[in-house]
Parts: sequence; C-alpha cells; structure tokens
Amino acid sequence: MAKYIGPVCKLCRREGEKLFLKGERCYSPKCSFDKRDYAPGQHGRNMSRRRKRESDYGKQLRAKQRARRVYGVLERQFSKYYKVALQQRRGITGLNLLQILESRLDNVVYRMGFASSRAEARLMVTHGHFIVNDRRTDIPSMLLSDGDEIAVRESSRKKTYFKTLSEIVEKRNVPAWLERDAKTLAGKMSRLPERAEIDGSLNEQLIVEYYSR
Ligand code: SF4
Repeated sequence: MAKYIGPVCKLCRREGEKLFLKGERCYSPKCSFDKRDYAPGQHGRNMSRRRKRESDYGKQLRAKQRARRVYGVLERQFSKYYKVALQQRRGITGLNLLQILESRLDNVVYRMGFASSRAEARLMVTHGHFIVNDRRTDIPSMLLSDGDEIAVRESSRKKTYFKTLSEIVEKRNVPAWLERDAKTLAGKMSRLPERAEIDGSLNEQLIVEYYSR
C-alpha cells in the first residue's frame, strides 16, 4: 500500500494546525509548527492570511485533506473508503467513513498505545510484529471488525524494544471501544467507535459535501 513519504511537519503547517503526526516530538519544543505556524513555501505567510476568507469548496477540501493526513491515507484509498461508507454500509455516511478509518490496523495499534503515532504503528505492522486473530499480517490498511484480536508476535517480544514497551503502554489511555492487556501486549476491538469517541476536530460533514459535489 502506497504512503506519503514527504516531510511530515509540512502537513501540519499546510493545514494551519498541529496534527500530531510524530508522536512524542509533537509535544516537545522541537515541534516545527510551534516555531513556524504558517504554510510552507515562499508565499506561506500570505496563504495563511488568505485562509481566513476561504470558500465553501476550500473548507470542504481542507476538511478532507486534514482527515487524510491525520490517518496517513493517500487520496485513492481515501475516496475508496468514502465509496464503501456510502454504498456498502448502513447509517450515516460521514460516521461510517470515520469508523472505517478508525478500524484500520495501524490506527488500532496506535489507539491501543502500542505506538506513539500512527506512522510508527504503520512501520511496526509492515515489519510483521503483529498477529491478527493468531495470523501474521503486515498490512497496515487491514480493516478490523468487532471481536478481532491483535497481539505482538511471540518472536518480536524478545526484541529490546518490545521488552520495555509494556511499561510505556501502561501509561497510555485506551478508548472504551478497545480492550488492551499491556502486560501481554495484546488487545481486542470489542466494537466500532461511536462519534464521541473519535477526534472531534474532524469534520465528516464537510468531507461528505466535498465528495457529493
Ligand atoms: Fe505536526 Fe508533530 Fe511535526 Fe509538530 S512535530 S509539526 S505537531 S507532526
């Protein structure tokens, strides 16, 4: 699965807000957005000023790009998720879309606290450190369903990184729709998240409007 390989901090500056894409660094004085909170490039400062009077289309585009960047999904995959949310799931399309994004394996690994960012979770999955329902997988975009269980592979637990992970994981909160055992580095997705359990700053209504144009 393709992924964005450009400079990550530029994405925050482009969106005009912190997207917390780099784990611990985002909370440290090293955060690029805290140093330069205007859009990247030669005309970045002017663009940031112009954003205050954005058109409806501009707002819809920004909402879509923001969600894409938060979850680390490229456009093609994101529009596929939208089609699934619209055509193959019952209920509200916007919420369906967010639930699909939340049920990605890399996101679940991150939400369970096994990684400090979705990018790190993605890397851990692609390196084959996780099993889903007792089967090894290296696909970060794999969509989990209610009752699916994930765990760090037995062979990976012997590695130094995973030996110390339990203590770090214990300090991280886990949302109510997931179960986690920090000691055994395993967990389960008990249900799909409700809207209130998903990032409130995402605007799914604007995303639906963007794709309905
Ligand atoms: Fe964004 Fe984190 Fe980079 Fe700050 S450190 S600009 S929050 S990705």
